[in-house]
Amino acid sequence: MKIIFLGTGGAVPTATRDNTSFLLESGADLWLVDGPGSLTQKIFRAGRRPQQVSAVFISHVHADHLYGLPAFIHSLMLEEKTVPLYGSAETIDFCLRLIDLFGLRREKILYRLEPRPILPGRRIEVSPGLAVTGFPVPHHSSSLAFILETPEARVVYSGDTPLHRPLLELAAGADCLIHDCSTPSRFLEALPFLRSLHSNSLELGQAAREAGIRLLVPCHFFSDLDFSLEEIEAEIRKSYQGRLFLPADFSELELP
Ligand SMILES: [Zn+2]
Ligand SMILES: [Zn+2]
Repeated sequence: MKIIFLGTGGAVPTATRDNTSFLLESGADLWLVDGPGSLTQKIFRAGRRPQQVSAVFISHVHADHLYGLPAFIHSLMLEEKTVPLYGSAETIDFCLRLIDLFGLRREKILYRLEPRPILPGRRIEVSPGLAVTGFPVPHHSSSLAFILETPEARVVYSGDTPLHRPLLELAAGADCLIHDCSTPSRFLEALPFLRSLHSNSLELGQAAREAGIRLLVPCHFFSDLDFSLEEIEAEIRKSYQGRLFLPADFSELELP
């Protein structure tokens, strides 16, 4: 199984990092997790085809995680295909309202996202090769972290969130934890909202060590701020000595 990063930035995209989203690839299947930006163009750029996407997962209703969905459907409107759309009930409702604003559920639109709200904590069989469990995290009332399981690997994606110990504990046995790591800790004083909404590299490193995370993938970098990934890495490494992967846009990670 592969993870293909389509974006690794926070709310503000930069020349080199778009808002966070990624693909899980298993065989010919692609599962899209979060949906900002020009998804169709980015999937082509990653050397895959948007028609391969067979499920979509949206972590919460903030614009940087879903605003690309209408354009994605519009670009595939002549493809006759129905793809399940997973998220909390609040997220699904929001996505449908956004899609309807553009009239993208009319009959002549052959590409359809079929709403599949996730009840927190319940494991759902997406397809014979994939199961998902949604786990609430304290970033927004709509927020769910996702546990994505295939026969090959188990991936946990936090979405946006401050550190949430129950999620870290859940991720302890997983092959990979992709976690909000918006800034190094020195920005906490200047930007107090970071503590209640996002995670920083110092605390993420500590929590990952305590939970015994096998492979940590920090993501959702506020790269419009003045820091480097070396600073993120150095802060994480103060505590965490396990496997660490610092993704760039379009980098690929093979699992397990
Ligand atoms: Zn975000
Ligand atoms: Zn958010």
